[in-house]
Amino acid sequence: MTKTEQKTDSHPRNILDKGFVKLVDFMGGDDRAVDSARVSFGSKSKGEEQDKRLIEYLLKHQHHTPFEHCVFQFHIKCPIFVARQWMRHRWGSFNEISARYSQVKEEFYIPEKFRVQDKLNKQGSVNGNSFDNEKLLTEYSASITASYKTYKSLLSGGVAREMARMALPVAQYTQFYWTANARSLLNFLSLRMDAHAQLEIREYADAMAEIFRQKMPWTWNAFKKIQGYTGCRNKALCASDDKETA
Ligand SMILES: Cc1cc2nc3c(=O)[nH]c(=O)nc-3n(C[C@H](O)[C@H](O)[C@H](O)COP(=O)(O)OP(=O)(O)OC[C@H]3O[C@@H](n4cnc5c(N)ncnc54)[C@H](O)[C@@H]3O)c2cc1C
Repeated sequence: MTKTEQKTDSHPRNILDKGFVKLVDFMGGDDRAVDSARVSFGSKSKGEEQDKRLIEYLLKHQHHTPFEHCVFQFHIKCPIFVARQWMRHRWGSFNEISARYSQVKEEFYIPEKFRVQDKLNKQGSVNGNSFDNEKLLTEYSASITASYKTYKSLLSGGVAREMARMALPVAQYTQFYWTANARSLLNFLSLRMDAHAQLEIREYADAMAEIFRQKMPWTWNAFKKIQGYTGCRNKALCASDDKETA
């Protein structure tokens, strides 16, 4: 039997202060999307140049179903507020660690620096130094520590795990498996790599785009070209003259 770990070469990519993204399993590839599209005409690959052109055509004209035959399974560790944004993406399967079954570890997201409210993008934030970052971080950490202390105290007082967790903040780290096909993953990346998305989830999206690029380089290049990326923080990932790596 081939164990799943032996099928992927992905190491966990560390994200934020304690999180990660790891590719658990992958099925398909550029050729799978091509073959799935060409089954309509009863044929398969017609060589690299024609196959690349077909992928671009499919994406451009929103013939997205051939990409649904390529599937990525990820193991993710992120703060709950990031997971909440993630789980809005309905095209995928989630299984998350249960704070009803097991005790939550003392693992919270502590940013290096707080950002200030963006005046243009009302949801967003930008770098700024209009406050004492060190002082506010100390205050924040004290509040997080107090929450965890309350959690432990509720547990030791006999309160059930499913209720004690109510004391924990959304900065608490959680873990889940997410399985999504390439079509859904591209939708996720286009929304969550974008400058309008929160910086923390963009860090995860960038790492997953790197994995996508390694596994499906032709599709990634076509997607990037059609999408016309400008907001990407990872310039190497989104450069227009990207070299394929796999
Ligand atoms: C920058 C940003 C800000 C956001 N702000 C908010 C906010 O303030 N409040 C808030 O509630 N959400 C917010 N969201 C979440 C957003 O509204 C989406 O829920 C989330 O991005 C998932 O996108 P999706 O529906 O395309 O993905 P998926 O759920 O994975 O769906 C993929 C695609 O499938 C199709 N689809 C899925 N379900 C249906 C359906 N029921 N009917 C028809 N077509 C369907 C659509 O074409 C959709 O694009 C925000 C997202 C971003 C990126």
